[in-house]
Amino acid sequence: MVLLPFSARNTSETNDWNGSKLKDDSKHYKLLVVGGGAGGLGAASKFARKLPRGSVGIIEPHEDHYYQPGFTLVGGGLMTLRETTRKQEKLIPSGAKWIRNEVVLFTPTQNMVTLDGGEDISYDYMVVAMGAHLRFDKVIEI
Ligand SMILES: Cc1cc2nc3c(=O)[nH]c(=O)nc-3n(C[C@H](O)[C@H](O)[C@H](O)COP(=O)(O)OP(=O)(O)OC[C@H]3O[C@@H](n4cnc5c(N)ncnc54)[C@H](O)[C@@H]3O)c2cc1C
Repeated sequence: MVLLPFSARNTSETNDWNGSKLKDDSKHYKLLVVGGGAGGLGAASKFARKLPRGSVGIIEPHEDHYYQPGFTLVGGGLMTLRETTRKQEKLIPSGAKWIRNEVVLFTPTQNMVTLDGGEDISYDYMVVAMGAHLRFDKVIEI
């Protein structure tokens, strides 16, 4: 997980963490979290409690959230895959907005990301928590 600090695009509407100056449109967030897994939800939850409603956006494409440590228990027959699964909507912290999409382009020089479909979302601060990309195809003899 990476926290990207404030950079060049510091507008007067958005430059304080106390947050009452959030822009009206919903395409700008004080804190934008990319990835609604364990790391992203943890960060979003912490800041959604401190910032005004609507200041935190979470970009996550999947409807289901997996408790990955439970996978070892699934393998050991102590848990079912279903028991490791939660609906993402139930885990989004109160006051945060779930943007159900994926980021296809990061433009940090403009504090902006582009979603699949072309929509741009801007931010003051961003947490990137997109997890690991597993490449079983690179493991010899699997
Ligand atoms: C089998 C197994 C057992 C484990 N056991 C333990 C344990 O006992 N203890 C422990 O501490 N940890 C354990 N872990 C590790 C722990 O699960 C991970 O460290 C943790 O889930 C990582 O969280 P994350 O938010 O970084 O990534 P993830 O939880 O993987 O979440 C990443 C999210 O980013 C989203 N995403 C990806 N690309 C994009 C995109 N372009 N745009 C928007 N969203 C995107 C994905 O859809 C996903 O929801 C285990 C992991 C596994 C696989």
